[in-house]
Amino acid sequence: MLSIVKTISLFGIVGSIIEVQVDISAGIPNWEMVGMLDKSIQESKERIKIAIKNSGIRIPSKKISINLAPAEIRKEGTSFDLAIAVGILQNLGVVQAENEEVVYIGEISYDGAVKSVNGILPMCLEAKKLGIKKVYVPYENIKEATLVKDLEIIGIKTLKNIIEKSNLVILKNNQKIKENEFNIDMSEVIGQEKVKRALEISAAGEHSIILVGSPGVGKTMLAKRAITIFPELSYEETLEVMKINSILGNIKDSLEISRPFIEINPNITLNAFIGGGRYPMPGAVSLANLGILFMDEFPEFDRNKINLLKNILDTKCIKLDRVSGSAIYPSKFVLIAAMNPCPCGYYASNIKECICSKNKIKNYLSKIGKAILDRIDLQVNVKKVDYKLISKTQVCEKSKDIKARVKQARKIQIERYKKDGILTNSELNSNQIKKYCVLDKETTEFIKELYIKMGLSVRSYNNILKVSRTIADLNYKENIDIQCIAEAIQYRSLEKLYKEGM
Ligand SMILES: [Zn+2]
Repeated sequence: MLSIVKTISLFGIVGSIIEVQVDISAGIPNWEMVGMLDKSIQESKERIKIAIKNSGIRIPSKKISINLAPAEIRKEGTSFDLAIAVGILQNLGVVQAENEEVVYIGEISYDGAVKSVNGILPMCLEAKKLGIKKVYVPYENIKEATLVKDLEIIGIKTLKNIIEKSNLVILKNNQKIKENEFNIDMSEVIGQEKVKRALEISAAGEHSIILVGSPGVGKTMLAKRAITIFPELSYEETLEVMKINSILGNIKDSLEISRPFIEINPNITLNAFIGGGRYPMPGAVSLANLGILFMDEFPEFDRNKINLLKNILDTKCIKLDRVSGSAIYPSKFVLIAAMNPCPCGYYASNIKECICSKNKIKNYLSKIGKAILDRIDLQVNVKKVDYKLISKTQVCEKSKDIKARVKQARKIQIERYKKDGILTNSELNSNQIKKYCVLDKETTEFIKELYIKMGLSVRSYNNILKVSRTIADLNYKENIDIQCIAEAIQYRSLEKLYKEGM
């Protein structure tokens, strides 16, 4: 007799239904499992056998054949255990098959306990997408699973729960996600009004930004607080962020979440940066999805990583190729890069004299490369704050007030681009720039002059227009005017540094 039980496999964030086909027949006692299985699944035989025995069920001495279909999907991990066990139990008549489309997910231990697995949230989301109505999950994963709307979730602690139909915890979507409040605030940074304004523009239009300044001027402090002026996560965004964390097993029982801020330095391994492993897991660029990726000491990142970054900024995802296929993870983030202006750190600073030769500075700057700089819309100098400002008891604007403006500007953009499939100004392509960044005659003359005088590339010209569009949105202006352009042009400080006699 053949019995069929379904489970789900995940490759990247894409799920596929896997059929566990179990046949038990007379013959030499043997247990055979096929279907492009990784070693980890082959090893589950022993676990499942002992777990069934310890759940009070005797497996007859017969020939047990198990096929995991479709064969072309590589299967890995321990999440198939439960479905295989249920398949055997159904075949033995111990468990009845259900009438509706059901999926079983979970690892099983010797004593029959059903243990938590990583990736429950994306698996349940995919199961729903594939038409499944009901999912059995490890009890420990139940909260995460019930974040998925309109899916019946049944949490089980042991195999016995299924055999005896007892202690099944049935939940429907009723979980509230708690968005953490940040314990830092932009108002803690004294002065730096121009940088704060640039960060506001960056948050409003999702523009990437580079902060250039000497050691100790507060680049990191500012970057860390940038996330506090981003809008709150929507329900869909929360699920997106949780998905990646679910795959890595990072979801806490309290279901707390914040918009991601991921800080990395040049020593990061390639695997940790883009993701990797034989079964590709997400890396920093995907953990930063829908948040900020902060890359400190930017010129020190090796060329390979910068080239990859360039592609990621263009495609907003990362493709990890393996023999068994490509795993694609989302990587849509706002890049905040930080760097010293020169190797000694004090070129053009108000702190001390730079001791670097022109050549040394030129080499240092050339490490960044024009191609990546073209993709960073805002370039800002961060200077040391004047002592007079620090000594004064100055009241600085709170994150929540800046965030209110950012949200308003985002709303304008969402409304404007609802038919274009984009959300923010940074995503405008050259045709859309022509459509949405219309300038009057006077403003056109103004930018034309700048284009010639500053020797702008077409890309930087477009970047200026996109940033101007965000400035106009922040200032409730329907059209970009000279003022907007004049402000946007101020955020090209690195380009200027490149040009100044280098
Ligand atoms: Zn120097």
